[in-house]
Amino acid sequence: MKFKIAWDFVKEDDVFNYAEIYREFLSKAKTERETVEYFTKLVAPRQDVRTYNFRNKSLVLYKKGKSDILDGFRILAAHIDAPRIDIKQNPLYEDTGIVLLETHYYGGIKTYQWVTKPMAIKGVVVKKDRSSLRINIGDEPGDPVFTFTDILPHLSKNVQAGKKISEAVHGEKLDLLFGSIPVKGEDDKIKEKVMENIISILRQKYNIEEEDLISAELEVVPQGPAFDVGIDRSMIGGYGQDDRVCAYAAVKALLDAENLARPTLVILFDKEEIGSDGNTGAESMILEFAVSDVLKEHGVSDYASVRKVLYKSEAISGDVTAGVDPNWKEVHELKNAAKLGYGIAISKYTGSGGKYATNDAHAEFVAKIVSIFEKEGVVWQVAELGKVDEGGGGTVAKYLSKFGIDTIDAGTPLLSMHSPFEIASKVDIYMTYKAYKAFVQTE
Ligand code: MN
Ligand code: MN
Repeated sequence: MKFKIAWDFVKEDDVFNYAEIYREFLSKAKTERETVEYFTKLVAPRQDVRTYNFRNKSLVLYKKGKSDILDGFRILAAHIDAPRIDIKQNPLYEDTGIVLLETHYYGGIKTYQWVTKPMAIKGVVVKKDRSSLRINIGDEPGDPVFTFTDILPHLSKNVQAGKKISEAVHGEKLDLLFGSIPVKGEDDKIKEKVMENIISILRQKYNIEEEDLISAELEVVPQGPAFDVGIDRSMIGGYGQDDRVCAYAAVKALLDAENLARPTLVILFDKEEIGSDGNTGAESMILEFAVSDVLKEHGVSDYASVRKVLYKSEAISGDVTAGVDPNWKEVHELKNAAKLGYGIAISKYTGSGGKYATNDAHAEFVAKIVSIFEKEGVVWQVAELGKVDEGGGGTVAKYLSKFGIDTIDAGTPLLSMHSPFEIASKVDIYMTYKAYKAFVQTE
């Protein structure tokens, strides 16, 4: 059994052109809110695509297909949240002449990777009068940036160097450097002079009071654009490719596809990285809501039909998987591990241990997907997330399959997944798009 090198089966121009527009997207849309906004704008001119916006954090796109609406949908699902560091509700404090922000990390991060890097703050502050302020500091030209500090090697011997790596930077030590100029004067009544100054900057420049931060959602994300990586420019490096690489491919596939085999949904979930809970995550009723609304437009409004249509539907759960890192090969069983440059990776199952907490696609559906990919010239490989009992991880697949939807995971292999700078091969990025397009176009 041998898998193909995808570079042998593409026009390099096609790959590089797609990678370039993807890189621009990745540089701009770094949070779930920004991604919803980006795709809403992208889709706006299209009469043939309907959108469902769920609280500005998840998005469903619908486009008509050839088959009858009651014969089931084709679904491309991906998630648009990414590991990051959220600002706490009561975040501001001053210590040693410096004001910092308390944070709480979101998703599975290795904290040591996130210190000593320039960071941006993005999100919303909703004031008591319910007006909403968009915050985006750090990514615009001329903006200041923020950072999490780390202890210097000269003094880390006792407090850090001997610790396990998972304890090297405790989550509570991730406090964001925010400012250090005090208000002027000898007024002893003002105890926290830097804080005083920072609060006045927030008030004057951003119209934010300290207590407004209680009703804010501010996300600290790596600052700066995504880059071409490698002397041959063969890879893209950037923040949040898990899972915006699949989200972008799904949306582009829906927009570019002609003659959809079936009515098609692209579902972009929030909250995947924290277990898919919450009313914008895959565990919520978003999918049912969108499907029942589409059916209602076709004059079908009984719940039994919604359930039947879901049961007849087919889905690709588009999510990234681990690419083999030559430095860390020992965590993979190499015959069933994804390699960069070998195309989209199909995972029959994810999960951990004895196949716990996963969808496990049926052989019949795996065969169908493989045959669609081969017919349309998609280069693919198989993937399992690491050796048996090495660790593991999940996707939204099991939240789709619970409706009876035939579901399989297929997405782009990454190196340095969940780090501030994730790496993907351009040819795999392109093959993911090609695969999703094949899936929605082919019966
Ligand atoms: Mn993911
Ligand atoms: Mn992830």
